[in-house]
Amino acid sequence: MKTYTGNPSLMRDMNRANVLDIIRLVGPITQTQISKILSLQPSTILRIVNDLVHEELVAESGKVEAGAKGGRRASLLELNAKGAFAIGVDLGSDDIIAVLMDLSGQIVSEASMPFPEKSEPEPILQTVKAAIQGLLDSGLAPIDRVMGIGVSIPGKVDSVAGVSVYAIHFQDWSNVPVSQVLEEAFQLPVYIEHDIRSMAFGEMWFGTECQNMICLGFRRGIGLGIVMNGELYQGANQFAGDVGHVVVDPDGPLCSCGRHGCLEAMASERAVIAKYRQRLQHGQGPVTIAHLYEEVKHGTPEVIELVQETASHMGKILADLVRIFDPERIIIGGNCMATSPEFLAWIRSSFESHQPNYADPETTVETTIFGENSMAIGAAAIILSKLFEPSRTGGN
Ligand SMILES: [Zn+2]
Repeated sequence: MKTYTGNPSLMRDMNRANVLDIIRLVGPITQTQISKILSLQPSTILRIVNDLVHEELVAESGKVEAGAKGGRRASLLELNAKGAFAIGVDLGSDDIIAVLMDLSGQIVSEASMPFPEKSEPEPILQTVKAAIQGLLDSGLAPIDRVMGIGVSIPGKVDSVAGVSVYAIHFQDWSNVPVSQVLEEAFQLPVYIEHDIRSMAFGEMWFGTECQNMICLGFRRGIGLGIVMNGELYQGANQFAGDVGHVVVDPDGPLCSCGRHGCLEAMASERAVIAKYRQRLQHGQGPVTIAHLYEEVKHGTPEVIELVQETASHMGKILADLVRIFDPERIIIGGNCMATSPEFLAWIRSSFESHQPNYADPETTVETTIFGENSMAIGAAAIILSKLFEPSRTGGN
């Protein structure tokens, strides 16, 4: 992320970051309780809390119950949901999705815009700008309270440079400086992240609070977001989680990466739709994954078989990933996934059938709690999370 231009005083010192984080995680909470948890002087806590209240990031939400001895009742503190906002954009869905989210994770406004006909950088970024501008113009968040813009993008993303290295779903898309373009347009900090890693971050920040979790994204491609010890795992080259290019059948179809039988070539949304066209001799008309889920509900045997095959590949890879990562939880997300309990049930069934006999039966497969917006919410959550970091990691 580039330098914060918004409000540098929000990012000042570590104690302050810790106090804010404790209020986020434990609140409503009293100053005395914060002081005990952080082993900090009550006077330090008082000063920090006063600052946070003054900045409207924290608010009093009531008083503790009166004790037997009476006396002054301490104030309970919690985050002020309307004290900070972030915008999250997702470029990995069928449409461009943008959300304006408050500090509590509540979406206050959202926009969904179709991709432009030409899926090249210029028209796509123009559409993204229009979506963001619409949210800023909604008047639902004071502009000086919007902390930044997070963008989730499929493919390879260099979050440090703010560059989308490639995304095979788009045309002429190579080393696109997404952060720079949007920072110049809006004068706000911008952070870009891989779409499934964004989803994993959102689940961790607002959802499960799991310290160890894997999130599988079933979209046009297939990706993995890995949360290890409460942090998003990026890998040495920011390419961790590229599970779509794990070979599951060396004799399988040619993959976009030049090899044969990658998971993505066997079981991604694109692969399933391609197989559907081939097997059912369905021409070039628009077919979406939602359409196939509908056919499953209607009991079309060929489509059921197709979706079961896909679920089988996904369940197996999840069983393998559990052996590697030992997560508390597995989350899967994808376009319209919530509309197909059948698909989820088949993934679970395959996952269970591929377990070794010593496996921990506690590991469950769930769908994302945020549905279609999970990647945009995750991208916005990354921006909000910067408030909770000490300033030494908040800038640059
Ligand atoms: Zn591949």
